[in-house]
Amino acid sequence: MGWEEQVRRVVPYIPGEQPKQKGIIKLNTNECPYPPSPLVKEYAAAFETELLRLYPDPEASLLVNALADYYGVDADQVFVGVGSDDVLAMSFLTFFNSEKPVLFPDITYSFYDVWAELFHIPYRCPELDNDFRLVKEDYLTENGGIVIPNPNAPTGLFESLDTIEEIVAGNPDSMVIIDEAYVDFGGVSAMSLVDKYDNLLVVQTFSKSRAMAGIRIGFAVGSKKAIGYLKDVKFSFNSYTMNAPSIAWGTASIRDDGYFKETVGKIINTRERVKKELAGLGFTFPDSMSNFIFASHETIPAAELFQALKQEGIYVRYFNKPRIDNYLRITVGTDEEMDRLLTFLKQIIH
Ligand code: PMP
Repeated sequence: MGWEEQVRRVVPYIPGEQPKQKGIIKLNTNECPYPPSPLVKEYAAAFETELLRLYPDPEASLLVNALADYYGVDADQVFVGVGSDDVLAMSFLTFFNSEKPVLFPDITYSFYDVWAELFHIPYRCPELDNDFRLVKEDYLTENGGIVIPNPNAPTGLFESLDTIEEIVAGNPDSMVIIDEAYVDFGGVSAMSLVDKYDNLLVVQTFSKSRAMAGIRIGFAVGSKKAIGYLKDVKFSFNSYTMNAPSIAWGTASIRDDGYFKETVGKIINTRERVKKELAGLGFTFPDSMSNFIFASHETIPAAELFQALKQEGIYVRYFNKPRIDNYLRITVGTDEEMDRLLTFLKQIIH
């Protein structure tokens, strides 16, 4: 008792396993199966460790300017952080400061409710419909803010930009955060709307399409006003979260657009092929626009498939949660990895 009574108790988010054994096929945390751009390797080789003596640029201007150029916005419309988890957590802290509940879907990225609990933010989770689609009207009710992952995780479904715009326009008194961790795999970014609506914040990451989960870079694009508020909170918390190598190597990734597009294209092609093969094996799935497929088999329970795959050294993600406990979330790996997955599934299914 005593001091423990004052402890802020939360149930933390547990990410997917990170097994270290060699030979594993890792399709459980939506990483990119291909390496980052060769330009990142070049920048890394040229990086002067002598520079580590100094604090990094708190504004991370090199990276912020590269992102601003790439997306055609001003530098003061860009905010960077240590992975989009960091950017999202800071955004919750900054924008959700009301007695009214923040809204996000019942089936979604599991960190949202953890942050809400941690920061004492009231929240409500409208149910997705039977096809795991968002019900727009649910987000046109009174609220203290909105978070919509688009595409959603773990379903992979993308909601149209028109739907997103209606929600943003319909909520002029709340901040609407669109979490676009997976948007590069075929979705359309809401970034084109940030100059029109100052209550919109678009968050993206280098962890998926840019193959840099290990370095932890995420960013937000929004109105100057929104980004300004976000910076005030971040600089009250820790001004030096972005480290010097991240700033340099992230910039390298942005400067190699050809490689980026090629990598994303390969993943989309593999995903579309695997969808067809999975359908032929008796799986159903929402039509993913992400780098994963959320699949359920007509006869074999997901929990069983998950265990069998794991024993075979193929790691996928299983969520033991209501409505989705018969689904596996399978990251799109290389063609060779997916062939091994499919060959093994064929063996157990037939
Ligand atoms: N949002 C969603 C929807 C995600 O699935 C993830 C990855 N787990 C993140 C944000 C966070 O990604 P990161 O912190 O690696 O940028």
